Amino acid sequence: MKTSELKDLTIAIVGGGYAGAAAAKALTLLGADVHVYEQATRIREVGAGIGLRPPTLNLFREWGIFEAMAAVSSPSDYFEILSGTGESIMQEEWPGIHDYAEETRTRLIHRGDFIETFLNVLPADRVHLGYRMETITDEGSRARVGFANGEQVSADLVIGADGIRSAVRKQLFSDAEPVFSGEHAYRIVISADDAYGLVVDDNLRMYLDDKGTKIYLLPLRHRNQLSYDITCLSEDDSWAPRITREFLDGLMDGFDERLGRITHELDLDALTCRAVFDIDPVDAWHSDSVTLLGDAAHAMLHHQGQGANQAIQDAGGLTDALRQADSVAGALELFQDKRKPVTDELQRISRQSWDASKVEDVFPGQKPAVQEVRS
Ligand SMILES: Cc1cc2nc3c(=O)[nH]c(=O)nc-3n(C[C@H](O)[C@H](O)[C@H](O)COP(=O)(O)OP(=O)(O)OC[C@H]3O[C@@H](n4cnc5c(N)ncnc54)[C@H](O)[C@@H]3O)c2cc1C
Repeated sequence: MKTSELKDLTIAIVGGGYAGAAAAKALTLLGADVHVYEQATRIREVGAGIGLRPPTLNLFREWGIFEAMAAVSSPSDYFEILSGTGESIMQEEWPGIHDYAEETRTRLIHRGDFIETFLNVLPADRVHLGYRMETITDEGSRARVGFANGEQVSADLVIGADGIRSAVRKQLFSDAEPVFSGEHAYRIVISADDAYGLVVDDNLRMYLDDKGTKIYLLPLRHRNQLSYDITCLSEDDSWAPRITREFLDGLMDGFDERLGRITHELDLDALTCRAVFDIDPVDAWHSDSVTLLGDAAHAMLHHQGQGANQAIQDAGGLTDALRQADSVAGALELFQDKRKPVTDELQRISRQSWDASKVEDVFPGQKPAVQEVRS
Protein backbone atom coordinates (compact mmCIF):
# COMPACT_ATOMS: atom_id res chain seq x y z
CA MET A 1 0.00 0.00 0.00
CA LYS A 2 1.19 3.52 -0.67
CA THR A 3 2.48 5.69 2.17
CA SER A 4 -0.53 8.01 1.78
CA GLU A 5 -2.93 5.04 2.07
CA LEU A 6 -1.11 3.72 5.14
CA LYS A 7 -1.39 7.14 6.79
CA ASP A 8 -5.19 7.06 6.32
CA LEU A 9 -5.49 3.60 7.86
CA THR A 10 -7.26 3.26 11.23
CA ILE A 11 -6.18 0.25 13.27
CA ALA A 12 -7.66 -1.04 16.55
CA ILE A 13 -5.60 -3.61 18.45
CA VAL A 14 -7.37 -5.73 21.06
CA GLY A 15 -4.82 -6.75 23.73
CA GLY A 16 -1.69 -4.99 25.00
CA GLY A 17 0.61 -8.01 25.51
CA TYR A 18 3.72 -8.71 23.41
CA ALA A 19 1.79 -9.10 20.16
CA GLY A 20 -0.35 -6.01 20.66
CA ALA A 21 2.46 -3.78 21.89
CA ALA A 22 4.84 -4.87 19.12
CA ALA A 23 2.19 -4.41 16.43
CA ALA A 24 1.34 -0.97 17.81
CA LYS A 25 4.97 0.11 17.60
CA ALA A 26 5.58 -1.27 14.10
CA LEU A 27 2.29 -0.02 12.63
CA THR A 28 2.64 3.43 14.18
CA LEU A 29 6.02 3.69 12.42
CA LEU A 30 4.19 2.96 9.14
CA GLY A 31 2.18 6.13 9.76
CA ALA A 32 -1.16 4.44 10.53
CA ASP A 33 -3.58 5.71 13.20
CA VAL A 34 -3.18 2.94 15.80
CA HIS A 35 -4.97 2.45 19.13
CA VAL A 36 -4.47 -0.41 21.61
CA TYR A 37 -7.36 -1.57 23.85
CA GLU A 38 -6.30 -3.64 26.86
CA GLN A 39 -8.68 -5.17 29.37
CA ALA A 40 -6.36 -4.77 32.37
CA THR A 41 -6.48 -1.48 34.22
CA ARG A 42 -2.77 -1.78 34.96
CA ILE A 43 -0.13 -3.63 32.94
CA ARG A 44 1.37 -6.30 35.16
CA GLU A 45 3.54 -9.15 34.01
CA VAL A 46 4.27 -12.59 35.36
CA GLY A 47 7.58 -12.56 37.27
CA ALA A 48 9.69 -14.55 34.84
CA GLY A 49 12.37 -14.16 32.20
CA ILE A 50 12.33 -14.97 28.51
CA GLY A 51 14.95 -15.19 25.77
CA LEU A 52 14.68 -12.74 22.87
CA ARG A 53 16.03 -14.38 19.75
CA PRO A 54 18.15 -12.75 17.00
CA PRO A 55 15.29 -12.35 14.45
CA THR A 56 13.23 -10.58 17.13
CA LEU A 57 16.15 -8.35 18.10
CA ASN A 58 16.78 -7.52 14.48
CA LEU A 59 13.20 -6.21 14.26
CA PHE A 60 13.91 -4.03 17.28
CA ARG A 61 16.83 -2.56 15.32
CA GLU A 62 14.42 -1.78 12.44
CA TRP A 63 11.95 -0.17 14.82
CA GLY A 64 14.65 1.90 16.58
CA ILE A 65 14.13 0.29 19.99
CA PHE A 66 17.10 -2.10 20.16
CA GLU A 67 19.09 0.12 22.52
CA ALA A 68 16.13 0.50 24.88
CA MET A 69 15.68 -3.30 25.01
CA ALA A 70 19.44 -3.91 25.33
CA ALA A 71 19.52 -1.62 28.37
CA VAL A 72 17.21 -3.99 30.26
CA SER A 73 18.55 -7.36 29.09
CA SER A 74 21.76 -9.43 29.05
CA PRO A 75 23.30 -11.19 26.04
CA SER A 76 23.55 -14.96 26.19
CA ASP A 77 25.76 -17.34 24.21
CA TYR A 78 24.27 -20.74 24.64
CA PHE A 79 21.62 -23.02 26.06
CA GLU A 80 22.69 -26.04 28.10
CA ILE A 81 20.76 -29.16 29.03
CA LEU A 82 21.91 -31.03 32.12
CA SER A 83 20.80 -34.08 34.03
CA GLY A 84 19.08 -33.45 37.35
CA THR A 85 22.39 -33.93 39.11
CA GLY A 86 24.23 -31.51 36.86
CA GLU A 87 26.02 -33.60 34.18
CA SER A 88 26.02 -31.72 30.88
CA ILE A 89 23.94 -33.53 28.20
CA MET A 90 24.10 -30.90 25.47
CA GLN A 91 25.41 -27.39 25.11
CA GLU A 92 24.59 -25.41 22.00
CA GLU A 93 25.13 -21.86 20.79
CA TRP A 94 21.82 -20.04 20.31
CA PRO A 95 20.84 -20.21 16.63
CA GLY A 96 20.96 -17.14 14.41
CA ILE A 97 23.78 -15.23 16.12
CA HIS A 98 25.61 -14.67 12.83
CA ASP A 99 22.58 -14.28 10.52
CA TYR A 100 22.53 -10.48 10.53
CA ALA A 101 24.89 -7.67 9.58
CA GLU A 102 25.70 -7.17 13.25
CA GLU A 103 26.35 -10.16 15.50
CA THR A 104 23.07 -10.54 17.37
CA ARG A 105 23.12 -12.65 20.48
CA THR A 106 19.99 -13.92 22.18
CA ARG A 107 19.19 -11.59 25.10
CA LEU A 108 17.60 -12.59 28.40
CA ILE A 109 14.99 -10.18 29.72
CA HIS A 110 12.39 -9.93 32.49
CA ARG A 111 8.86 -9.99 31.04
CA GLY A 112 7.90 -6.88 33.02
CA ASP A 113 10.86 -4.85 31.67
CA PHE A 114 10.09 -6.07 28.19
CA ILE A 115 6.47 -4.94 28.11
CA GLU A 116 7.24 -1.70 29.97
CA THR A 117 9.94 -0.81 27.45
CA PHE A 118 7.45 -1.37 24.63
CA LEU A 119 4.76 0.71 26.25
CA ASN A 120 7.25 3.52 26.94
CA VAL A 121 7.98 3.86 23.23
CA LEU A 122 4.27 4.23 22.36
CA PRO A 123 2.40 7.53 22.65
CA ALA A 124 0.44 7.30 25.95
CA ASP A 125 -2.81 8.49 24.35
CA ARG A 126 -2.77 5.43 22.06
CA VAL A 127 -2.95 2.83 24.85
CA HIS A 128 -6.39 2.49 26.45
CA LEU A 129 -6.48 0.48 29.67
CA GLY A 130 -9.69 -0.94 31.16
CA TYR A 131 -11.16 -1.77 27.73
CA ARG A 132 -12.38 -5.36 27.69
CA MET A 133 -13.62 -6.35 24.26
CA GLU A 134 -16.97 -8.12 24.37
CA THR A 135 -18.16 -8.13 20.77
CA ILE A 136 -16.58 -7.93 17.35
CA THR A 137 -18.56 -7.44 14.15
CA ASP A 138 -16.92 -8.04 10.81
CA GLU A 139 -18.50 -5.59 8.35
CA GLY A 140 -16.39 -6.58 5.33
CA SER A 141 -14.00 -3.73 4.63
CA ARG A 142 -14.22 -2.50 8.27
CA ALA A 143 -14.82 -4.07 11.66
CA ARG A 144 -16.51 -2.82 14.82
CA VAL A 145 -15.51 -3.65 18.38
CA GLY A 146 -17.71 -3.27 21.47
CA PHE A 147 -16.23 -3.01 24.96
CA ALA A 148 -17.60 -3.94 28.39
CA ASN A 149 -17.48 -0.24 29.36
CA GLY A 150 -20.09 0.49 26.68
CA GLU A 151 -17.75 2.14 24.18
CA GLN A 152 -17.50 1.07 20.53
CA VAL A 153 -14.81 1.65 17.92
CA SER A 154 -14.77 1.00 14.20
CA ALA A 155 -11.55 0.59 12.22
CA ASP A 156 -10.22 -0.39 8.78
CA LEU A 157 -8.23 -3.12 10.48
CA VAL A 158 -8.88 -4.84 13.82
CA ILE A 159 -6.09 -6.98 15.26
CA GLY A 160 -7.02 -9.67 17.77
CA ALA A 161 -3.89 -9.82 19.95
CA ASP A 162 -5.89 -11.04 22.91
CA GLY A 163 -3.92 -14.14 23.83
CA ILE A 164 -4.54 -17.87 24.04
CA ARG A 165 -8.20 -17.47 25.13
CA SER A 166 -8.87 -14.91 22.39
CA ALA A 167 -12.45 -13.65 22.19
CA VAL A 168 -11.75 -12.40 18.65
CA ARG A 169 -10.74 -15.91 17.58
CA LYS A 170 -13.73 -17.47 19.28
CA GLN A 171 -16.27 -15.04 17.77
CA LEU A 172 -14.91 -14.99 14.20
CA PHE A 173 -12.52 -17.82 13.41
CA SER A 174 -12.69 -20.90 15.64
CA ASP A 175 -14.52 -21.98 18.74
CA ALA A 176 -12.01 -24.78 19.50
CA GLU A 177 -10.85 -24.63 23.10
CA PRO A 178 -7.18 -24.49 24.21
CA VAL A 179 -5.58 -27.92 24.62
CA PHE A 180 -4.09 -28.97 27.99
CA SER A 181 -0.50 -30.23 27.69
CA GLY A 182 -0.47 -32.41 30.81
CA GLU A 183 2.06 -30.07 32.39
CA HIS A 184 2.27 -27.29 34.95
CA ALA A 185 4.75 -24.39 34.98
CA TYR A 186 5.73 -22.71 38.26
CA ARG A 187 7.64 -19.45 37.72
CA ILE A 188 9.35 -16.92 39.94
CA VAL A 189 12.25 -14.45 39.92
CA ILE A 190 14.71 -14.70 42.83
CA SER A 191 17.95 -12.94 43.75
CA ALA A 192 21.02 -14.48 42.12
CA ASP A 193 22.56 -14.36 45.61
CA ASP A 194 20.01 -16.97 46.73
CA ALA A 195 20.92 -19.46 44.00
CA TYR A 196 23.67 -21.31 45.90
CA GLY A 197 26.30 -20.51 43.26
CA LEU A 198 24.30 -21.93 40.35
CA VAL A 199 24.32 -18.61 38.46
CA VAL A 200 27.78 -18.68 36.91
CA ASP A 201 27.27 -16.77 33.64
CA ASP A 202 24.55 -15.47 31.28
CA ASN A 203 23.43 -18.75 29.79
CA LEU A 204 20.11 -20.56 30.04
CA ARG A 205 20.32 -23.97 31.70
CA MET A 206 17.71 -26.66 31.90
CA TYR A 207 18.04 -29.55 34.37
CA LEU A 208 15.82 -32.53 33.73
CA ASP A 209 15.05 -35.81 35.43
CA ASP A 210 13.53 -38.99 34.05
CA LYS A 211 10.06 -38.24 35.50
CA GLY A 212 9.33 -35.32 33.19
CA THR A 213 10.35 -32.52 35.56
CA LYS A 214 12.45 -29.71 34.10
CA ILE A 215 14.04 -26.81 35.95
CA TYR A 216 15.00 -23.77 33.86
CA LEU A 217 17.57 -21.33 35.24
CA LEU A 218 17.51 -18.10 33.22
CA PRO A 219 19.92 -15.49 34.62
CA LEU A 220 18.95 -11.81 34.54
CA ARG A 221 22.44 -10.48 35.30
CA HIS A 222 21.53 -6.83 34.80
CA ARG A 223 19.09 -7.26 37.72
CA ASN A 224 21.32 -9.65 39.72
CA GLN A 225 18.37 -12.03 39.53
CA LEU A 226 17.49 -15.48 38.33
CA SER A 227 14.27 -16.50 36.62
CA TYR A 228 13.48 -19.94 38.05
CA ASP A 229 10.93 -22.12 36.27
CA ILE A 230 9.85 -25.64 37.23
CA THR A 231 7.84 -27.50 34.61
CA CYS A 232 6.38 -30.85 35.65
CA LEU A 233 3.78 -33.37 34.59
CA SER A 234 0.31 -33.04 36.11
CA GLU A 235 -3.24 -34.22 35.45
CA ASP A 236 -4.72 -31.07 36.99
CA ASP A 237 -5.89 -28.75 34.22
CA SER A 238 -7.18 -25.94 36.42
CA TRP A 239 -5.89 -22.61 35.00
CA ALA A 240 -4.12 -21.54 38.22
CA PRO A 241 -3.48 -24.76 40.17
CA ARG A 242 -2.76 -24.69 43.89
CA ILE A 243 0.34 -26.49 45.07
CA THR A 244 2.04 -27.10 48.41
CA ARG A 245 5.64 -26.90 49.58
CA GLU A 246 5.58 -30.66 50.23
CA PHE A 247 4.59 -31.27 46.62
CA LEU A 248 7.44 -29.06 45.36
CA ASP A 249 9.93 -30.75 47.68
CA GLY A 250 8.81 -34.12 46.31
CA LEU A 251 9.56 -33.00 42.77
CA MET A 252 13.18 -32.37 43.77
CA ASP A 253 14.00 -36.04 44.47
CA GLY A 254 17.02 -36.88 42.36
CA PHE A 255 17.97 -33.25 41.58
CA ASP A 256 21.18 -31.51 42.71
CA GLU A 257 20.64 -30.66 46.37
CA ARG A 258 21.20 -26.93 45.61
CA LEU A 259 18.15 -27.00 43.32
CA GLY A 260 16.28 -28.72 46.15
CA ARG A 261 17.29 -25.95 48.54
CA ILE A 262 16.31 -23.13 46.14
CA THR A 263 12.95 -24.81 45.56
CA HIS A 264 12.33 -25.40 49.26
CA GLU A 265 12.93 -21.71 50.00
CA LEU A 266 10.67 -20.29 47.25
CA ASP A 267 8.05 -17.75 48.35
CA LEU A 268 4.86 -19.61 47.44
CA ASP A 269 2.85 -16.37 47.45
CA ALA A 270 5.09 -14.96 44.71
CA LEU A 271 5.19 -18.16 42.65
CA THR A 272 3.06 -18.04 39.48
CA CYS A 273 1.48 -21.48 38.99
CA ARG A 274 -0.17 -22.25 35.64
CA ALA A 275 -1.43 -25.32 33.86
CA VAL A 276 0.13 -25.18 30.41
CA PHE A 277 -2.08 -25.03 27.30
CA ASP A 278 -1.64 -24.42 23.60
CA ILE A 279 -4.10 -24.43 20.68
CA ASP A 280 -4.39 -26.57 17.59
CA PRO A 281 -3.50 -24.67 14.39
CA VAL A 282 -6.38 -22.41 13.28
CA ASP A 283 -7.37 -22.99 9.62
CA ALA A 284 -7.82 -19.29 8.79
CA TRP A 285 -6.90 -16.49 11.14
CA HIS A 286 -8.02 -13.49 9.07
CA SER A 287 -10.94 -11.96 7.13
CA ASP A 288 -10.72 -8.83 4.96
CA SER A 289 -10.52 -6.47 7.91
CA VAL A 290 -9.66 -8.60 10.98
CA THR A 291 -6.61 -10.67 11.80
CA LEU A 292 -5.35 -12.59 14.80
CA LEU A 293 -1.79 -12.08 16.04
CA GLY A 294 0.48 -13.85 18.55
CA ASP A 295 -1.00 -16.43 20.92
CA ALA A 296 -4.52 -15.64 19.67
CA ALA A 297 -3.43 -17.04 16.29
CA HIS A 298 -1.00 -19.77 17.29
CA ALA A 299 -0.42 -20.27 21.04
CA MET A 300 2.32 -22.86 21.45
CA LEU A 301 3.89 -24.71 24.39
CA HIS A 302 6.96 -23.12 25.96
CA HIS A 303 9.45 -25.93 25.26
CA GLN A 304 11.09 -23.94 22.45
CA GLY A 305 10.75 -20.52 24.12
CA GLN A 306 9.18 -19.12 20.95
CA GLY A 307 5.68 -17.80 21.81
CA ALA A 308 6.57 -14.18 22.58
CA ASN A 309 9.24 -14.17 19.87
CA GLN A 310 6.72 -15.29 17.29
CA ALA A 311 4.19 -12.73 18.51
CA ILE A 312 6.74 -10.00 17.80
CA GLN A 313 7.76 -11.52 14.48
CA ASP A 314 4.05 -11.53 13.54
CA ALA A 315 4.07 -7.76 14.03
CA GLY A 316 7.04 -7.50 11.65
CA GLY A 317 5.33 -9.82 9.14
CA LEU A 318 2.07 -7.87 9.21
CA THR A 319 3.88 -4.57 8.70
CA ASP A 320 5.80 -5.97 5.70
CA ALA A 321 2.58 -7.36 4.22
CA LEU A 322 0.80 -4.00 4.50
CA ARG A 323 3.70 -2.35 2.68
CA GLN A 324 3.76 -4.99 -0.07
CA ALA A 325 0.05 -5.60 -0.80
CA ASP A 326 -2.44 -3.32 -2.59
CA SER A 327 -5.12 -3.44 0.10
CA VAL A 328 -5.71 -4.43 3.72
CA ALA A 329 -7.50 -7.60 2.57
CA GLY A 330 -4.54 -8.53 0.34
CA ALA A 331 -2.08 -7.79 3.13
CA LEU A 332 -3.91 -10.03 5.61
CA GLU A 333 -3.88 -12.88 3.11
CA LEU A 334 -0.16 -12.37 2.44
CA PHE A 335 0.54 -12.13 6.17
CA GLN A 336 -1.12 -15.48 6.86
CA ASP A 337 0.54 -17.13 3.84
CA LYS A 338 3.99 -16.07 5.04
CA ARG A 339 3.63 -16.60 8.77
CA LYS A 340 1.34 -19.60 9.19
CA PRO A 341 3.73 -22.27 7.84
CA VAL A 342 6.37 -21.05 10.33
CA THR A 343 4.05 -20.95 13.32
CA ASP A 344 2.29 -24.24 12.40
CA GLU A 345 5.70 -25.92 12.49
CA LEU A 346 6.70 -24.28 15.75
CA GLN A 347 3.38 -25.29 17.33
CA ARG A 348 4.13 -28.86 16.26
CA ILE A 349 7.73 -28.88 17.47
CA SER A 350 6.83 -27.19 20.73
CA ARG A 351 4.57 -30.13 21.58
CA GLN A 352 7.69 -32.23 21.81
CA SER A 353 9.14 -32.14 25.27
CA TRP A 354 12.73 -32.83 26.20
CA ASP A 355 14.07 -36.26 26.98
CA ALA A 356 17.60 -36.80 28.26
CA SER A 357 17.94 -40.18 26.58
CA LYS A 358 17.08 -39.02 23.05
CA VAL A 359 18.47 -35.68 22.00
CA GLU A 360 17.85 -35.34 18.27
CA ASP A 361 17.79 -32.52 15.75
CA VAL A 362 14.26 -31.44 14.95
CA PHE A 363 14.84 -27.76 14.45
CA PRO A 364 17.90 -26.08 12.94
CA GLY A 365 20.34 -25.16 15.63
CA GLN A 366 18.31 -26.61 18.47
CA LYS A 367 17.97 -30.10 19.80
CA PRO A 368 14.63 -30.80 21.35
CA ALA A 369 13.99 -34.48 21.78
CA VAL A 370 11.25 -36.77 20.65
CA GLN A 371 9.28 -37.61 23.76
CA GLU A 372 5.71 -36.51 23.05
CA VAL A 373 4.09 -34.58 25.89
CA ARG A 374 0.83 -36.12 24.75
CA SER A 375 -0.11 -38.37 21.89
C1 LIG B 1 5.55 -21.14 31.28
C2 LIG B 1 5.72 -20.31 30.04
C3 LIG B 1 6.99 -19.94 29.63
C4 LIG B 1 7.17 -19.20 28.47
N1 LIG B 1 8.42 -18.87 28.06
C5 LIG B 1 8.60 -18.20 26.91
C6 LIG B 1 9.92 -17.88 26.44
O1 LIG B 1 10.94 -18.16 27.08
N2 LIG B 1 10.04 -17.24 25.24
C7 LIG B 1 8.95 -16.88 24.51
O2 LIG B 1 9.13 -16.30 23.42
N3 LIG B 1 7.69 -17.17 24.92
C8 LIG B 1 7.50 -17.81 26.09
N4 LIG B 1 6.24 -18.11 26.51
C9 LIG B 1 5.08 -17.75 25.65
C10 LIG B 1 4.67 -16.31 25.81
O3 LIG B 1 4.40 -16.01 27.16
C11 LIG B 1 3.42 -16.05 24.96
O4 LIG B 1 3.58 -16.58 23.68
C12 LIG B 1 3.19 -14.55 24.86
O5 LIG B 1 2.81 -14.04 26.11
C13 LIG B 1 2.10 -14.24 23.81
O6 LIG B 1 1.90 -12.86 23.73
P1 LIG B 1 0.49 -12.30 23.26
O7 LIG B 1 0.62 -10.82 23.29
O8 LIG B 1 0.09 -12.95 22.00
O9 LIG B 1 -0.54 -12.79 24.35
P2 LIG B 1 -0.63 -12.37 25.94
O10 LIG B 1 0.73 -12.14 26.44
O11 LIG B 1 -1.50 -13.39 26.52
O12 LIG B 1 -1.39 -10.96 25.85
C14 LIG B 1 -2.75 -10.87 25.54
C15 LIG B 1 -3.26 -9.55 26.09
O13 LIG B 1 -4.62 -9.37 25.68
C16 LIG B 1 -5.38 -8.93 26.78
N5 LIG B 1 -6.77 -9.36 26.54
C17 LIG B 1 -7.26 -10.62 26.56
N6 LIG B 1 -8.59 -10.62 26.29
C18 LIG B 1 -8.94 -9.33 26.08
C19 LIG B 1 -10.17 -8.70 25.76
N7 LIG B 1 -11.31 -9.40 25.60
N8 LIG B 1 -10.18 -7.34 25.61
C20 LIG B 1 -9.03 -6.61 25.77
N9 LIG B 1 -7.82 -7.18 26.09
C21 LIG B 1 -7.79 -8.52 26.23
C22 LIG B 1 -4.76 -9.63 27.98
O14 LIG B 1 -5.06 -8.96 29.18
C23 LIG B 1 -3.26 -9.53 27.62
O15 LIG B 1 -2.68 -8.32 28.07
C24 LIG B 1 6.04 -18.82 27.69
C25 LIG B 1 4.75 -19.17 28.11
C26 LIG B 1 4.58 -19.91 29.29
C27 LIG B 1 3.19 -20.28 29.72
